[in-house]
Amino acid sequence: MAKKQSKKKKAESEEERKERLKKLLIAKRNEVLKEAKEEIGKFIRGENRELVETALDDGDWSVVDLAEDLNLRKLTAHKQTLDKIDEALRKLEEGTYGICEDCGSEIPEERLKVIPFAIYCVDCMERREQLEEMEKEEW
Ligand SMILES: [Zn+2]
Repeated sequence: MAKKQSKKKKAESEEERKERLKKLLIAKRNEVLKEAKEEIGKFIRGENRELVETALDDGDWSVVDLAEDLNLRKLTAHKQTLDKIDEALRKLEEGTYGICEDCGSEIPEERLKVIPFAIYCVDCMERREQLEEMEKEEW
């Protein structure tokens, strides 16, 4: 049977969409977690490393604060991304995923493909970035 037989695009059901996005988010989550662990591997060896890795698996990021002296600041960025992914997963369950937190409009699918954990539409994101820039300049 030929694979390209879909003459008319079969509409994806809400359930299928949810499942697909969930997989996307979980894949992203694992990716970030792996990066975080690699980062740790550069700085911590032996017993402590295992300790930290286990803690991360459990979602206990307090170790990152402890490790700050070890130049693991980068991990904070990973942590922030993971938080966003968790938030997106929660929203997915709630049915509010893909809706801009600022203006309530739907975030385009293309944007979600690039940033599956986006919580703002492009317009609102840009506005926020501009605001942040302005705040920085004021300081
Ligand atoms: Zn918006």
